Amino acid sequence: MNSEQALIAIYPGSFDPLTVGHEDLARRTLIFADRVIVAVARRATHQKMLLFSVEERLEMLREVFAGEDRIECDTFDGLLVDFARARGARFVIRGLRAVSDFEYEFQMAQMNRELSNQIETLFLIPDLAYSFLSASLVREVASLGGDVSRFVSAPVLRRLNERFRR
Ligand code: ADP
Repeated sequence: MNSEQALIAIYPGSFDPLTVGHEDLARRTLIFADRVIVAVARRATHQKMLLFSVEERLEMLREVFAGEDRIECDTFDGLLVDFARARGARFVIRGLRAVSDFEYEFQMAQMNRELSNQIETLFLIPDLAYSFLSASLVREVASLGGDVSRFVSAPVLRRLNERFRR
């Protein structure tokens, strides 16, 4: 199957760091897509305070998804719709955990549609077990010495432990 026919989805985000909720969404995408590109935004949304560099976040993604040949990891700069077009992707995946995610996600999806009518945003909901989980909470709990081992995979846990080793 060449890339003209393959159904490719982009799952963009900060992934600071990747959580098992993000992983759930990336793998769920493969129910209907041939390939998913999990893409770290080089420019942070919401003026976020970031814990890990883009390169560290990409390395963690690659370690976690190693061996899953339908999941590719990358970074992107500039407009998401331009990146999607360049990679032959027609779909952007975003997650909706709670109503609180909706307003921002809705605005962004509408803006992306204004920028390119060729790219559709699809919203997926995670497993209920991950619906409370956010990268920012993981950062906060880990920074205070809490156990986040249920919320992140081993490569991410190792880096969090290194970062917050007392
Ligand atoms: P942002 O692009 O806002 O920096 P994140 O990197 O935190 O976002 O997350 C990327 C996407 O994944 C967002 O659409 C977010 O709603 C979604 N997401 C984050 N955590 C989860 C989770 N636990 N379950 C499902 N979706 C999630």
